[in-house]
Amino acid sequence: MPGLYIHIPFCKSKCGYCDFYSVAALASIPYFVDALVEEMGMYREVFKSFETVYFGGGTPSILLPEQIEHILNAVRAHFNLLPDTEITMEANPGDLDLAYLAPLRNLGVNRLNIGVQSFNEEILKVLGRRHSAGQAISAIANTRKAGFDNLGLDLIYGVPGQGMTQWLETLTQAISLLPEHLSCYQLTVEPHTPLGKRYGQREFSLPSEDLQHELFMKTSEILEGVGYVHYEVSNFARGMAFASSHNQKYWDHTPYLGLGPSAHSFLNKQRWWNHRSVDRYLSAIKNGAKPTEGMEILSLEELQLEAFYLGLRTKKGICIQDYSTNYSRDILAEKAESFMELRRRGLILIENGFVHPTRVGLALSDSLALI
Ligand code: SF4
Repeated sequence: MPGLYIHIPFCKSKCGYCDFYSVAALASIPYFVDALVEEMGMYREVFKSFETVYFGGGTPSILLPEQIEHILNAVRAHFNLLPDTEITMEANPGDLDLAYLAPLRNLGVNRLNIGVQSFNEEILKVLGRRHSAGQAISAIANTRKAGFDNLGLDLIYGVPGQGMTQWLETLTQAISLLPEHLSCYQLTVEPHTPLGKRYGQREFSLPSEDLQHELFMKTSEILEGVGYVHYEVSNFARGMAFASSHNQKYWDHTPYLGLGPSAHSFLNKQRWWNHRSVDRYLSAIKNGAKPTEGMEILSLEELQLEAFYLGLRTKKGICIQDYSTNYSRDILAEKAESFMELRRRGLILIENGFVHPTRVGLALSDSLALI
């Protein structure tokens, strides 16, 4: 069953490391919400039902509950949503008081991903986040009071000035708050971001590759040791029932519709994406046109390469039978030599009809697919 992604491209301020498209033009939000509703109407003949809805950003929690309600009412009017549809919203800790969360839960939002990033004030400053560690802790308590029983925390490691000890303090604090899901991302410093420019001027250095590897391995060991499943390179769930059903669709080529600026969609080997700029997006919708910027049709070979690359980023791995059915290729015969080498190095296992990465393999997953 397809998933629906809704991109909210607004942030109150820009974090120093952020490479996502987002703007602070908050006055545009009411027009934007109307445009989103218009855009979804353009796809009512293409997509009929969704099993997941995901509000990503930007900062979706910048929207008022009434605006989320307006969007969700339109989704339900245009498409079928299963009764137990996973409805996720990314949220900034600074936005999450009880007065905000209680109506959100009543609207059917049943999964929150809170952008905590760190419980260390200094690290939050380096990242240029607008919230404090204290706000994150109150936000988490508020989500529980509001009745959310599926809570995810996003954390970042490999930040300048953050050694193993500091990272483990944040991780330990996160575990003590018992989230159902944790995403632990390694910081990527993009040259054109404020953090990237400071790095270019040698204001700080980044953790070495060895330390990054240790941080990854330690994180996986600790989280699996306390009962989380390390089900994708950066993602951990307290049992697979709490793994993100929505993100799974990106990894296994399930169709999805993306609404909003820069959102991508996928259906029947076709991928298309919207204009990044909010102005161009709004102007296309105003003119009654789909805000599509580009489109590609993936060949069987491209789909197969993606399936291979994405499969090796998940604990489940690549199903040998599905691969053969979908791409008419015998993966074991085709990759016999590479797989022998990867197994020798302890990076993959082949068992129960799957090729899947070990923990070290997950740490090196970007290079696995190239071997
Ligand atoms: S809140 Fe998220 S999307 Fe917005 S600037 Fe910060 S990192 Fe980027």
